[in-house]
Amino acid sequence: MPSTSELFAGNKIRCTTQRRALYEALVATDSHPTAEELYRMVKPTTTRLSRATVYNTLDTFCRTGLARRLPSNGCCRFDADVSRHLHLWFREDGTIQDVPEELGKKLTQGLPKAVIAEIARMAGVEIEGISIQLMARRPRG
Ligand SMILES: [Zn+2]
Repeated sequence: MPSTSELFAGNKIRCTTQRRALYEALVATDSHPTAEELYRMVKPTTTRLSRATVYNTLDTFCRTGLARRLPSNGCCRFDADVSRHLHLWFREDGTIQDVPEELGKKLTQGLPKAVIAEIARMAGVEIEGISIQLMARRPRG
């Protein structure tokens, strides 16, 4: 695993204390935080951290492929795990949870390839990948 500063250097991102803290917090959590949640997680231990820095830094991470943006209930959540994996999305509070990799693979590998090829032909496109978000609801009680 490359270090944060090596990753930043490889993506031509200037390594500041704030950016490093934001990236390391995002990698360490699987909660898919919003920018505001990430700000609140990192703020207590990081000097000179503004909301603007958080938003700009997250934009940079997404642009360079170090993180991805997941739309949810009119805002965005962020994931530093950029590997192909599926998500459970909870409409009631907008939270997002990872589906275990093996189960996600089982689901995408079980999709009918002939139908996917037909969709590609019909739309005149090449299908690069499949992204599935499962809409989930927690049991009441
Ligand atoms: Zn995820």
